[in-house]
Amino acid sequence: MMVEFFGAPGPMELLIIGVICLLPLAAVAVVLVVAYAGRSSRVGNPNLRPCPDCHLVVSIRAATCPRCGCPLSPPPGGRELGAGG
Ligand SMILES: [Zn+2]
Repeated sequence: MMVEFFGAPGPMELLIIGVICLLPLAAVAVVLVVAYAGRSSRVGNPNLRPCPDCHLVVSIRAATCPRCGCPLSPPPGGRELGAGG
């Protein structure tokens, strides 16, 4: 007398297997959404950017960081086509 557990699964088995398979994916999705939301909310203004040295949020027009004096690259949008010169 053998228990045919691996026979044709019923709808309940399929539902349970589906939930078990989807739970980790849902958890990962939640973590990614929370991480992305927290990261994007830190610098929401497109005119601001964090200093690469001290991570102070400064204006993109600032040539240097007002806190640590780290030189900041000019804002994108200028002429960057002269890469060969
Ligand atoms: Zn700085």
